[in-house]
Amino acid sequence: MATQIREREVIVADVVRETKDSTTLYLSEDENNPEYKAGQFLTVDPHQFPALERWCLYLEKEKGRKEPVRAYSLASAPHEKYVSFTIKEDPYYPDEDPYPPLLSPLLTFRIPVGTKMTVKGYTGSYIVNDEIASKATTIFHGCAGSGIVPNFSIIKDELHNGSSKKHILIFTNKTWNDIIYREELHSLKKKYPDKLTIIHMITRENNPDLEQFGVRWGRPTIELLQEVIEDPSTTAAFICGPGISSYEKKAAKKKGLELVPKFLETMLKYVDEIGIPKEMIKKESW
Ligand SMILES: Cc1cc2nc3c(=O)[nH]c(=O)nc-3n(C[C@H](O)[C@H](O)[C@H](O)COP(=O)(O)OP(=O)(O)OC[C@H]3O[C@@H](n4cnc5c(N)ncnc54)[C@H](O)[C@@H]3O)c2cc1C
Repeated sequence: MATQIREREVIVADVVRETKDSTTLYLSEDENNPEYKAGQFLTVDPHQFPALERWCLYLEKEKGRKEPVRAYSLASAPHEKYVSFTIKEDPYYPDEDPYPPLLSPLLTFRIPVGTKMTVKGYTGSYIVNDEIASKATTIFHGCAGSGIVPNFSIIKDELHNGSSKKHILIFTNKTWNDIIYREELHSLKKKYPDKLTIIHMITRENNPDLEQFGVRWGRPTIELLQEVIEDPSTTAAFICGPGISSYEKKAAKKKGLELVPKFLETMLKYVDEIGIPKEMIKKESW
């Protein structure tokens, strides 16, 4: 089934607050069967929202270019009734960021049920392709923060479709309450105990009571990956989380500064070093 990329008029059928700064929007489309693959994304043009009209004009004047569309990974899996996506509000640090974020605050906090919007999709190569489908016996998911979104879709899809692959999720968040889809992941683990392993890495909290839920403290290490991935040669890796942005690359180049690896760069180095074949590694970052 070929994925068709086109504009789609949708209505927000449900709005679910996931954490203090993230929200899932469930979209109802005229056609009941919007074709997409787990892990793909849609785009949203900020110009369509009257509340952002003046912000777009102002930021475009300041930046000297048109505000582009923003991409959002699909949180839903193709078998689910509604297409959904999850937005995490981008923070704004006036001393570091040149501009406040445009679209994510609106999508996170100010979209009521019934809102009509236009999205474009669906596309993206962060998917279980034929090679991974045929060669991998295990899929390792290395996610941080909202980086869980496309992997959540892939995990749900794979488990629903009766795939024999095992899934190992190492999910990094600042605190227990920052974990998006925490309850849904827990339910999936209960339903598929032999197929899904979840390790939560928590970096800014230390509460031993949480260890019963598979919580470990700090950031993932290469030793942890070696511990949980039995045979890297038959494992695929889907890594999604914060990486060095193009703005940061440009700024560092201008100042002659060396860039410090972020979550994405670190995890990609680990999966390469433990021997996961390059063609079985997928990455997504924002
Ligand atoms: C494939 C893909 C999938 C994604 N999936 C998700 C998802 O599932 N959930 C999610 O929450 N997000 C996702 N994103 C990120 C999303 O597309 C947006 O980038 C995010 O919501 C921030 O958008 P914004 O309009 O709020 O912020 P923006 O207005 O884009 O600003 C973000 C930051 O960039 C800086 N900035 C903007 N313009 C400039 C400039 N010209 N020069 C220097 N700095 C600048 C700002 O200061 C700010 O700090 C995804 C991105 C991609 C590419």
